[in-house]
Amino acid sequence: MNFCSHCGQTVRFAIPAGDDRPRYLCDACGSIHYQNPRIVAGTLPVSGSRILLCRRAISPRKGYWTLPAGFMENAETTVQAAARETWEEACAEVDIHGLYTLINLPHINQVYMIFRAELTGGFSAGPESLEVALFEEHEIPWDELAFPTIERTLRHFYADRGDGHYPLHISDITAEDRERYFGSA
Ligand SMILES: [Zn+2]
Repeated sequence: MNFCSHCGQTVRFAIPAGDDRPRYLCDACGSIHYQNPRIVAGTLPVSGSRILLCRRAISPRKGYWTLPAGFMENAETTVQAAARETWEEACAEVDIHGLYTLINLPHINQVYMIFRAELTGGFSAGPESLEVALFEEHEIPWDELAFPTIERTLRHFYADRGDGHYPLHISDITAEDRERYFGSA
């Protein structure tokens, strides 16, 4: 950030009085521009024994497969965000069940929240997807998944499916995890 989004003057990066980390400060109007993690909300859409994946039409990771997910917007709930992203990327309506994976990515300031969901109708590729398809477990393109959060969510799902019990899984992906993932991709 170079300029104050409130008054347009130049900002500086320094620790405000009484704080413990640097922020963008505007001396002209006194604004402190806090920056906080962003939430990525999405679904794990199930249809019978198959799971819906989308092949990304946009960067990053264009051409790789993902679960429908994206940045939450202001004024919506996490469930609404997950359903909206599923509609935008896969033109699919879903019944959303519980929150299934909550994954912190502190090095890139994101939190993933993926909900289990059931497809209630058809699907097709939205503008951000090259194609959308249903996969049996043995068909999952493990080497062509877009992000480690997606792989982790799918691994949990197949591990839990045996006894049909799907507890919430909370975990972290570190910079090292991420390097390992993209290094091998
Ligand atoms: Zn200002």
